[in-house]
Amino acid sequence: MSEHIAMMTGSFDPVTLGHVNIIGRAARLFDKVYAVILSNGEKAVSGEMFTPDERLKILESSLMPLKSSGITNVEAALWQSLTVDFAKERGVTYIIRGLRTAVDFDYECQIAAIMKEFDKRLETVFLPADQKYSHLSSTYARELVKYGCDLSPVADDATAALMREIYSHH
Ligand code: ADP
Repeated sequence: MSEHIAMMTGSFDPVTLGHVNIIGRAARLFDKVYAVILSNGEKAVSGEMFTPDERLKILESSLMPLKSSGITNVEAALWQSLTVDFAKERGVTYIIRGLRTAVDFDYECQIAAIMKEFDKRLETVFLPADQKYSHLSSTYARELVKYGCDLSPVADDATAALMREIYSHH
């Protein structure tokens, strides 16, 4: 039987524990889950905090606790082209998205419809946010980083330290 390969896409600027929760849960449902940063260029564009390469380092760090707990079928990636091209190249047939609110739902349904236009075989799978993390967003994480606040609500210790270290060089 063919493998069921999924990708969770996002800006991940930066990744939060909410994203990691979804990735970990998806990893139990699929043979392989890619966490893919979609980006249009090498620099952070207006409104973004971290460059795509920095986001990738942070994302890789955030997956370490999953890997240490035995969830090894997850992989971080950076993609600077169409989502559907990543899917084709890696044999991905499922797109995972997390839902926090009805607002997320409306937006995500539109994106899912666009993905179907591009490639009929691509199914979007929504996972509801864990209540513990449903208030988390990258916007919130950026505010905490910017004002030097405790990052434990949004990241594990090592990833929090990495975010701080990277931001201190900006
Ligand atoms: P995008 O720019 O594509 O919205 P994000 O990185 O903000 O990228 O989010 C990627 C996905 O993760 C989206 O499906 C979003 O709804 C979901 N998501 C974001 N924060 C959370 C959270 N706290 N819990 C569950 N899902 C989340």
